[in-house]
Amino acid sequence: MHTSLTPEQERLRDRARELASGEVAARAAEVDRTEEYPWDNVDRLKDAGFIGMTIPKAYGGQGLGYLEAVLAIEEMSKACSVTGRIVVETNMGAISAVMAYGSEEQKRLAAGMVLEGDKPAICITEPEAGSSAGEMTTRADRRGNRYVINGKKHWITGGGVSRLHLIFAKVYDENGVEEGIGGFLAIRDETEGLRIVKREPTMGLRGIPEAEIAFEEMEVPPSALVMPPRGLKKGFADLMNAYNSQRVGAATVALGIAEGAYNLALDWSEKREQFGRPINEFQGLQWKLADMSIQIAAAQALVYKAAASAGPTADGRFPDMVMAAQAKVFTSEMAIRVTNDALQIFGARGYSRNNPVERMVRDARMFTIGGGTAEILRTVVASGILGKKLPQTRDGYLKPRPG
Ligand SMILES: Cc1cc2nc3c(=O)[nH]c(=O)nc-3n(C[C@H](O)[C@H](O)[C@H](O)COP(=O)(O)OP(=O)(O)OC[C@H]3O[C@@H](n4cnc5c(N)ncnc54)[C@H](O)[C@@H]3O)c2cc1C
Repeated sequence: MHTSLTPEQERLRDRARELASGEVAARAAEVDRTEEYPWDNVDRLKDAGFIGMTIPKAYGGQGLGYLEAVLAIEEMSKACSVTGRIVVETNMGAISAVMAYGSEEQKRLAAGMVLEGDKPAICITEPEAGSSAGEMTTRADRRGNRYVINGKKHWITGGGVSRLHLIFAKVYDENGVEEGIGGFLAIRDETEGLRIVKREPTMGLRGIPEAEIAFEEMEVPPSALVMPPRGLKKGFADLMNAYNSQRVGAATVALGIAEGAYNLALDWSEKREQFGRPINEFQGLQWKLADMSIQIAAAQALVYKAAASAGPTADGRFPDMVMAAQAKVFTSEMAIRVTNDALQIFGARGYSRNNPVERMVRDARMFTIGGGTAEILRTVVASGILGKKLPQTRDGYLKPRPG
């Protein structure tokens, strides 16, 4: 147990734990098998107040911090990582960027949609621009009193279920001169020219679609542009700072999956007897379980510290970039190891699709990739500790950081 949680935070975590271990856990295998977005869980999360928790009270939210969101995400992800991801994306990522940088109109729109249960999609990655996202070719051309957006994104979480989209594009003025990278808001089924091309079949996390999305002569008014504080020239760095919240969220889902798998393996190790005794009486498994618990405790400390680095509320603030990267690298790699060890402790039973641990192994595999790969995030950490702008990092990495 984390010793520095306030009584309110502990109560919030306990409420999340109750929902997760009951109705959410009961649905997890079916969500994975059917690959259908769990709208019923969205309603449960909404009713329990875990959607839009970080949105300021002035916009209808609860004005809570990222640590509170992390506590809810961790509990959901122990039972159902898809539901954990929904809590991430309705409290962090695109919604954080809009609440920090958006106009009054944009904030009201985004907050309203999220509080209704929409999980916004953040559209950065392109087929030819993955880790090197700044090389994106999606473009927004200013033509009179509108922008016309053309391009293609892929691996967009929520493509086909999300309505609000925050689309990163290179912005060009009337004369075709590039001004920088901006984020544009568009709404599926309302903004003409936004087309869901196809869904990607995935290894895990199957209840949320990953989709390719095309923007074909998609027209938006200038008021759709979320203008970062330092303008378009530094737009990408500022928008990606907002993404640090998402990275902490992704790390939390990985943490929750690892904890869920560990709990199941711990329980099984007491029940399963071989050679006339519970298998946890063999030192080989005792040390495996000990290592799993040590890694989980370390990951949890990194994740909570990164979440708390933003301050007590999420209002316009983001977690520290280096701490967020440290937490995501460690936790994503830890979750792969711990879920694999949990499967091993179950023996053949762990390899059955009837065992939640099988799903957890598949689900955990994603987190060293999406939201910045472990390699790229190590570069972010290196840039921070060396105090150097590295050739493969964006400017903005050298922002002074707390602590
Ligand atoms: C399930 C899932 C959900 C996702 N959701 C979203 C989303 O909602 N929105 C979105 O915009 N994107 C999303 N992504 C995309 C994700 O952010 C990218 O996959 C990621 O940034 C890596 O890009 P890439 O896959 O093109 O890999 P590449 O950039 O092609 O990298 C391939 C390999 O090379 C390594 N590499 C590349 N450059 C370097 C370097 N300089 N130093 C060391 N190693 C390097 C990488 O670490 C990786 O191992 C998602 C991905 C997944 C799997």
